[in-house]
Amino acid sequence: MTPSILWFRRDLRLGDHPALAAAAAEGPVLPLFVLDDALLSPSGAPRTAFLLRSLKALDADLRAHGPGLVVRRGRPEDVVPALVEEAGAGAVHVSADFAPYGAARDERVAQALDVPLVRTGSPYAVAPGRLHTKTGDPYKVYTPFARAWAEHGWRKPADSDPGAVEWAGAESEDLPDEPGIGDVELPEAGEAAALAAWEQWRGTPYDDVRDRPDLDETSRMSTYLRWGAIHPRTLLAGLDARNPHQATYRRELAWREFYAHVLHAWPDSARDYFRPELRELPYVTGKERDRRLEAWASGRTGFPIVDAGMRQLLGEGWIHNRVRMIVASFLVKDLGVEWQHGARHFMTHLVDGDLASNQHNWQWVAGCGTDAAPYFRIFNPITQGAKFDPDGDYIRRWVPELAGLAKPDVHHPWRAGAPNGYPEPLVDHATQRAEALEAYQLLRRHRD
Ligand code: FAD
Repeated sequence: MTPSILWFRRDLRLGDHPALAAAAAEGPVLPLFVLDDALLSPSGAPRTAFLLRSLKALDADLRAHGPGLVVRRGRPEDVVPALVEEAGAGAVHVSADFAPYGAARDERVAQALDVPLVRTGSPYAVAPGRLHTKTGDPYKVYTPFARAWAEHGWRKPADSDPGAVEWAGAESEDLPDEPGIGDVELPEAGEAAALAAWEQWRGTPYDDVRDRPDLDETSRMSTYLRWGAIHPRTLLAGLDARNPHQATYRRELAWREFYAHVLHAWPDSARDYFRPELRELPYVTGKERDRRLEAWASGRTGFPIVDAGMRQLLGEGWIHNRVRMIVASFLVKDLGVEWQHGARHFMTHLVDGDLASNQHNWQWVAGCGTDAAPYFRIFNPITQGAKFDPDGDYIRRWVPELAGLAKPDVHHPWRAGAPNGYPEPLVDHATQRAEALEAYQLLRRHRD
């Protein structure tokens, strides 16, 4: 029988996989992953390592039922048609990709194929582009989007039992060696690990823990969602919307869907200001910008919660959400650096780095996004630290120079005499805040 190719991308799992179910309905399935340099090269070593581990886990899961994953390296528009010809495939099945690069790549592949490219399902509960306002426009504001999203609803997890599939094989290249990641600690990769982590976390009283980096009890699903080791519909199916903690968690998943929807409607917002007027603020440039960026990126700003967050990024490829907001606000509002520089650093180092969520959260913090935090809401890094890491446990975990300090000194260590070479604050928060606000007021007066 003519096989179909199932081309895996951001859907590295076998359960709840609509594209697998669609391919299997047509006959034998040949599972493919393309190592595409355009996607691999901007990725930092931890994200690449996690991807390679996820592919190994997928291959092992496939080998329980058939010949395993076929890996080919090259441009997808060359590699996929070549395998179609080699295997005599009748179709190529994928989960739809709505991000700018993925959508353009799929168009190129579809043009290069002389068999259909069949898109079934996506990495979202509700596909980007499906929901519109009453006037037919894409949503720009989260709250009405989230309402429409919940009302629209989603399908039940798809039945894609890999044991019921007839798997086909072809010659495969070896996966490359993992890049060195030093001491970076990554979560276990693969679908089984994602499902186990989700089952273990599901009953956590989310509202009590979600803003506390010291407790470290958020779900950590972002990395698995990024690679599709688990589908958000699987998570949603396990949540009870009447349970307040689980209702909050659903709203967080809706943020992920909202940003994918916004990026799909405005692809340029990946790089450019959603509210272009804020482009005109007086950001620092040149050597001074590079000096500030370097201190921020290496966790040496002299602001403990900021430094803890930036060192967690280097140590784990992940940062707690509250701390992501604090460090992003600090870079833009206190250090006067344009958001794109920080977003790029995050995209390189985050294992869960996702263009839609990353760029739009940065724009939200910078005050130039869709329904952005108002520009005048500037996080105070000291009070944020004291509020959300009350005993300083998170700071002490990531900033060893401060390990000997108790609260409240751990939140403003320069009062205790800059211990163990910990740097003096790079800037004065009150001055920077006043300057940022003044620049913003000036800009508004000019525009009015
Ligand atoms: P939980 O608190 O357990 O949340 C559950 C899920 O909800 C997350 O896995 C995620 O899928 C979703 N979610 C929660 N908050 C947000 C949010 N603000 N925006 C979008 N989705 C959300 N998330 C990414 O997945 N990739 C990124 O590249 C990314 N970059 C960010 C950059 C900045 C500046 C900020 C402020 C946030 C960013 N986020 C990003 C959102 C959020 O910080 C992470 O999704 C979250 O910290 C992941 O940890 P968790 O799975 O334990 O989250």
